[in-house]
Amino acid sequence: MTFAVTVLTLYPEMFPGPLGVSLAGRASSEGRWSLDAVNIRDFAADKHRTVDDTPAGGGAGMVLRADVLAAAIDGVADGRPILAMTPRGAPLTQARIRDLASGPGAIVMCGRFEGFDERIFEARAIEQVSIGDYVLSGGEMGALVLLDACIRLLPGVMGAPSSGVDESFETGLLEYPHYTRPSTWEGRTIPEVLRSGDHAKIAAWRKSMAEADTRSRRPDLWERHEGARVQPPSGARRRKKDE
Ligand code: SAH
Repeated sequence: MTFAVTVLTLYPEMFPGPLGVSLAGRASSEGRWSLDAVNIRDFAADKHRTVDDTPAGGGAGMVLRADVLAAAIDGVADGRPILAMTPRGAPLTQARIRDLASGPGAIVMCGRFEGFDERIFEARAIEQVSIGDYVLSGGEMGALVLLDACIRLLPGVMGAPSSGVDESFETGLLEYPHYTRPSTWEGRTIPEVLRSGDHAKIAAWRKSMAEADTRSRRPDLWERHEGARVQPPSGARRRKKDE
C-alpha cells in the first residue's frame, strides 16, 4: 500500500526536497509513498489570490485566512489524518510517528507568517503538531521532518527488518552509543565488551548505557520511563484521582 502524502503549502517547490534522495527518494521511486504538494494560493477566491490578512487586534505580521485554508483542506480531504505544523501543537513523538506510518498517509498543512486563523481548528478536524520548542519561519521544514520520520518506518524502506527496534525513543530510552572500525583511533579504543563476542554481555552493556545516557542527558524521558515502570495500572490510578 502506498503511504499517500498531501502537503498544503505556499511553497510547493520546497517538496520533495531532501525527501527526493537516499532512503526516502528510493522508497518513493519504489512506490512505497507518494507526495502531492498543493499550493494553498490555488484556493484563494479573489483575483489577487490573497491568502492572508492582518491580525485582528493588531500586531505584527500576517495571518493565514481560515476560508482559504478550509477550501484547500476540503479540496484534498479523504479520511487521511490532517495535521497542521505549529509551535502551539503537541510535540511529535516516535509513538505518534509510528501510528501515522501505519495508516494510509497524511495531509500536512504548513503555516507561514504568524500562522493560521484559529477558527480553522474549530471548524475542521485537524491535529496541531510541533517539531520542538523553537520557531521556524514556515511549516515546510517541519513537514519534511515529520514525513522523513514516517517514511523510514514504512514496510521495506529500512534495510534490516530489525533496524529500528532498539532505536532512541522506541523503548522510552535513548539508544546506546555505537562504534565501528578502526578499533583504535587517536589512542581511543572501542569498549572491550563490544569485541568480546559475548552477546548476552553486549546486550546488558547496551541496556545499561542506554539507561545511564537517558538519565543524564534526558531526565524528562528518564522520569517518564521510571514512572511507567512503577505506576499502578491506569484504572487504579484514575479511581484514586477521582476520589
Ligand atoms: N506566531 C507563531 C509562529 C509562526 S512561525 C507563534 O508564535 O506560535 C510560522 C509557521 O512556521 C507556523 O505557522 C508553523 O507552520 C511553522 N512553525 C514554526 N515553528 C514550528 C514548530 N516548532 N513546529 C512546527 N511548525 C512550526
